[in-house]
Amino acid sequence: MTDLEFRDYVDEIEATPLGVLLDRASPDVRAVLTGALNRRELTPEDGLRLYTARGDDLRAAIKCADLARAEDCGDEVTYVVNRNINFTNICFVGCQFCGFKRQRWESDAYDHSDETVLAKVADARARGATEVCMQGGINPDMPAFRYRDLLAKIKMQFPDIHVHAFSPMEIMYGARRARMDYPEYIAMLRDAGLGSIPGTAAEILDDSVREVLSHKKVDVATWVEIITTAHALGVPTTSTIMYGHIESPQQVINHLELIRSIQKQTHGFTEFVPLRFIHQNTVMYRKGMVKPIEKGWLDFQMYALARLYLRGQIDNLQTSWVKLGVELAATTLKAGCNDFSGTLMEESITAQAGGDAGEFVPVDLIEEQARAMGRIAVERTTLYQKLYGRKAPNGARPITPSADHYACGGSGCG
Ligand code: SF4
Repeated sequence: MTDLEFRDYVDEIEATPLGVLLDRASPDVRAVLTGALNRRELTPEDGLRLYTARGDDLRAAIKCADLARAEDCGDEVTYVVNRNINFTNICFVGCQFCGFKRQRWESDAYDHSDETVLAKVADARARGATEVCMQGGINPDMPAFRYRDLLAKIKMQFPDIHVHAFSPMEIMYGARRARMDYPEYIAMLRDAGLGSIPGTAAEILDDSVREVLSHKKVDVATWVEIITTAHALGVPTTSTIMYGHIESPQQVINHLELIRSIQKQTHGFTEFVPLRFIHQNTVMYRKGMVKPIEKGWLDFQMYALARLYLRGQIDNLQTSWVKLGVELAATTLKAGCNDFSGTLMEESITAQAGGDAGEFVPVDLIEEQARAMGRIAVERTTLYQKLYGRKAPNGARPITPSADHYACGGSGCG
């Protein structure tokens, strides 16, 4: 189906009374959805049933996810004015889904100087950004304290910019280079100005899948240890999933179950961000390890499931215009999502993997898309404080693609 047809599809679901859609659903799905609307926590079996829902069952799931979103988050569509900065593409990890990393001898390898990064932060600030999101490759030549020193320089010049940076993979690597344990290392970054950590490098939190995707990457236990340590130290993180590659539905449910159980203990996740795998320019696709999955159905299944499965624990469900395209991402606002992500300004994660959504979404376009879905866009901070009345300078203008526009098909670097 086209994006327009998906829009008609969700409009029709919205216009159909809940009772009608539940009556049409299978009895077991109806029972799961009724329980979810009554705030009963879904079991893994319930989750599995929803994630494999099709036809009338999926329609009913989308309706319930939309109602749960309205009850839990209201009708505002939040977004953040931010800029991505991928400060190096040099990386020795070799994730199979990555089109971003370069060896240090390749002609288009780069490692931005602190001055270049600072100039990008200055540009972001001038264009109204409240956040910079920084992630990079795992560079074998990185000085032991680079992450700390870069943070300190940014915060020295731009004390009020929120720095959302360094995935658990980068934290693991940085701690090793600095010969520090995780609590010590994360506390050091926090004290240098780290505002929050992207919950990327999660992909699917299942070691058998991770072994195939990237056997050198942070394992599940370490990912959890770093995330929970950050939360304990007062550093919030996001949470993500990369879906649509070699994972099974059961592994998706196990991932959600783990995220939910962490949140119950720490309350440190600010949001959950499902990220569809972009296959085109990845090793996995070239090797025939994955079959392309058309955009649409799987994404609706994922968003509806995530809204209902995480209900009561994580309220903010973020759609990804980078992965889905702006039009389809807007459509998911009627399938459980309440957040439209950020302006990004310089998207360096997906484009090279074959993503075609562009690298920048101006504020006006986010507002227009929210209106088209019958909702109102509201700017927020990274930590979901709403900035009513602030009018960012439209995230300013799109920028010309630069040399670091290379990306991975996954959830981000590191
Ligand atoms: S996803 Fe990140 S860690 Fe993996 S190869 Fe690419 S740059 Fe390296």
